Amino acid sequence: MTTMTRDVIVVGGGIVGCLTAYLLAGQGKKVTLLESHSVGSHASGFAFGELGALEGAGLPDPLLDFTVWSFRRHATLAEELKASTGIDHQFQYCNRLMLAFDQAAVRTFKSHLHWQQKVKDFTVQWLEPEEVVRVEPQANPRSHGAVYVQRSASLEPYRYTLSAAQAAERRGVQIVLRRATGLITQGQRCLGVAYEGGQVQAGQVLLAMGPWSAEAGAWCGYQAPVVPLKGQILRLKLDNFAMSNTMHHGGSYMALKPDGLVWAGTTEERVGFNEDPTPAARDKIMKDLLDMVPALVDAQLVRQTACLRPLSSDGMPIVGQVPGWDNLYMGTGAGRKGILWSTGMSQVLVDLMLEGRTQVPGAAHLDPGRFKGK
Ligand SMILES: Cc1cc2nc3c(=O)[nH]c(=O)nc-3n(C[C@H](O)[C@H](O)[C@H](O)COP(=O)(O)OP(=O)(O)OC[C@H]3O[C@@H](n4cnc5c(N)ncnc54)[C@H](O)[C@@H]3O)c2cc1C
Repeated sequence: MTTMTRDVIVVGGGIVGCLTAYLLAGQGKKVTLLESHSVGSHASGFAFGELGALEGAGLPDPLLDFTVWSFRRHATLAEELKASTGIDHQFQYCNRLMLAFDQAAVRTFKSHLHWQQKVKDFTVQWLEPEEVVRVEPQANPRSHGAVYVQRSASLEPYRYTLSAAQAAERRGVQIVLRRATGLITQGQRCLGVAYEGGQVQAGQVLLAMGPWSAEAGAWCGYQAPVVPLKGQILRLKLDNFAMSNTMHHGGSYMALKPDGLVWAGTTEERVGFNEDPTPAARDKIMKDLLDMVPALVDAQLVRQTACLRPLSSDGMPIVGQVPGWDNLYMGTGAGRKGILWSTGMSQVLVDLMLEGRTQVPGAAHLDPGRFKGK
């Protein structure tokens, strides 16, 4: 059995754990990160990679400011991580079309335009059906119109997570590929973490275990209300296919990515910790894809992946000090937006761990204590 002493232990090598470790090391902290499989081997490595800041859980209230802060931070971070590691995580600005296929969808989309158009980072407008095909000739001409968001952004999630992990290592973070099995505690203080084959002692501990966060309930008495929400993605190839916008329809999406493949998703499946791709999901995603872009009927399926989003009971991230503990923190629960929100979540964690407070807007809504008594 080995024992080490560090400033901070991070449990979990998804994007939240890797990025927080990177930022902590930038503040001079000696960090050990424990990961049970490999870095980015779950949702953080197999997400779609959209940084869609204008729809979804917590938007516009109460998370719009937090979301916009997170979005903006990606632009500077992309440069920083690339300069450190040479890994291009393919951050790029892109335009999105959110297609409506019935009048109910038209009404819903239009009801959100008033606040979306106030966010100065983006240009947001409603397009009538003939304007949709003018902007994107591949779009299904049978749509009833679309919300057109200009200057959104996307990145490649595995490269992003890997670049955060490698940049962290360059700052001295030690990555240990072992499963954490429990906390070493004394009263309200956490002294360290036990893992398979050893233990690490540290002044502070962060649990960034994605959908597995509830397991830590047995270690610390705080049962994070987080469950796995499975999602699947297809990658397809079609020669001479060109399009320049990302498209959305219902909960699904598609884009032609820098690797030359069309990526399309997704599903929302409550099937526990099962990460197997399924034919039913493939067929559902293909149907949604062809609704958006009929020309892809001849595309060849190259790869199908499945992974688990960490979904909290109110759909918002759980970020901050664990109730009842002096030096134990948690960062999880980002559901469908963990790549986008990772920058904000990590900065909040670093600020709270080092200063006890943060300037990141909206952070109070993410406090783990909000579920007490519920
Ligand atoms: C199909 C799909 C598409 C998505 N698309 C997008 C998107 O376009 N945009 C967006 O913003 N978000 C997207 N997401 C969501 C995003 O991927 C997740 O919210 C985010 O990756 C979660 O990151 P995390 O670090 O919290 O968790 P994870 O990536 O799950 O990382 C947690 C890590 O902790 C490790 N771990 C767990 N228990 C232990 C233990 N006991 N000891 C050591 N290690 C442990 C795990 O092995 C894992 O590597 C998508 C998700 C899915 C499934």
